Amino acid sequence: MYEQDTIAAIATPPGEGGVAIVRISGADAETIAAKIFARPKGNNGKLKSHSLYHGKIRDPHTERALDEVLLTVMRQPRSYTGEDVVEIHGHGGPFLAQQILGLVLAQGARQAEPGEFTKRAFLNGRLDLAQAEAVLDLIRARTDKGAELALQQATGELSSWVHKLREELLDILVQVEAAIDFPDEEIELLQRQDLIEKIDHLRARIGEIIATYEWGRLFRDGARVCICGRPNVGKSSLLNALLGEERVIVTPLPGTTRDVIEESIHLNGLPVVLWDTAGIHETEDQIERLGVQLSRDRMGKADAVVFVIDGSMSLTADDRALIGEIARKKTLLAINKNDLPRVIVIDELTRAFAPNRIAYVSAKTSEGINEFKECLRDLILDTETEPSVVITNLRHRTALMRGEVALKQALVSLGENQAPEFIAVDLNHAAEALKEIVGAIRNDDILERIFSQFCIGK
Ligand code: GDP
Repeated sequence: MYEQDTIAAIATPPGEGGVAIVRISGADAETIAAKIFARPKGNNGKLKSHSLYHGKIRDPHTERALDEVLLTVMRQPRSYTGEDVVEIHGHGGPFLAQQILGLVLAQGARQAEPGEFTKRAFLNGRLDLAQAEAVLDLIRARTDKGAELALQQATGELSSWVHKLREELLDILVQVEAAIDFPDEEIELLQRQDLIEKIDHLRARIGEIIATYEWGRLFRDGARVCICGRPNVGKSSLLNALLGEERVIVTPLPGTTRDVIEESIHLNGLPVVLWDTAGIHETEDQIERLGVQLSRDRMGKADAVVFVIDGSMSLTADDRALIGEIARKKTLLAINKNDLPRVIVIDELTRAFAPNRIAYVSAKTSEGINEFKECLRDLILDTETEPSVVITNLRHRTALMRGEVALKQALVSLGENQAPEFIAVDLNHAAEALKEIVGAIRNDDILERIFSQFCIGK
């Protein structure tokens, strides 16, 4: 258990706003609030839970009123933390909110640590660990899709998937342990085959969910896309067309972009950071060479590459050299300047690029830009069907991978006709790994690391 003192913090962001909320949680929350909250006409009857009351915050020593507020009590267990919670909604100024918090602390509450309210919610069983972590993703979501994925987890979809899988695993374990209890009997051949099938099925499902991590990560953190190509093919123009504004200066002079220019867009809910880079080509110019080096570095770091060529010209030696360089990256070929008569020979390109990885665009007229965006989204996500459960958290992925390894080990042991005890050990490891996701963790360091990422007041 944790130290059950009463904690308080400002729950709203700093700065001016419509309201500022001071949140208090713990056994003394109501007593503390009663000392500083004055209702109209001296009305001091017991407050109903989950109702809003109008009144003033008054310093009990000086009797001075600080703010006119709405106050609500949420008695345990029906509150965010599972403890008695009081929220004071004041006029939204940072100074006032600090003063109210100061009064609350003077009455005996302790300033809450970052994420301490959510940590208490977890420790009181209001949220499991996967849900608590999803609260953080929800706060940080940058697009509607990111928020949707986080909400799915916060409301327990991942958790129920994990529980279901774990129960199936425990059923298998019962079967194996029955064999241990009757030591004379080996696991029968038929039963062995049945176990192999069931365990392999579980392993495959865990594998599928592990594979969604990359998908979830892209939605949470955004994808990094590098626009590259030789000078003057229209990379900066394409960036402008994607942004719908003249962000980058476009000139007919090659080599204008020397630094990396970074801009953000959304592709139907997928956050994308675009890097417009210097044209990659052979050059003796020292400064340009530095730019080319930067472009190559970014290309290496990107989740996907947009390779731009000029469709109104034949391929150049620089183009060809680049096609070889990007062969190992996820690449979308953008054949630009489609408003001009096409000179480029497509046959030469279809050897290196699949038809759904080629987009024809005109950065000048914006023709083909919407189709280009769709192709880019498909390229980055690599799948058109959306997985039913998505993981976004590295800790979850690590635990699932451990579970997968343990199940693989169980399959090897079964295949080698080993004693049921060995198989039971592996299955137990897998079950433990699954349990960790939803919160069998009582290790203070790990909990500290998780909750310290939250802001104060959450
Ligand atoms: P970058 O060096 O690859 O970034 O190329 P820029 O975006 O600076 O463009 C080079 C030149 O090509 C400029 O004169 C642009 O106006 C021109 N350009 C870019 N895109 C198009 C296009 O789609 N059609 C036509 N006709 N010209 C374009």
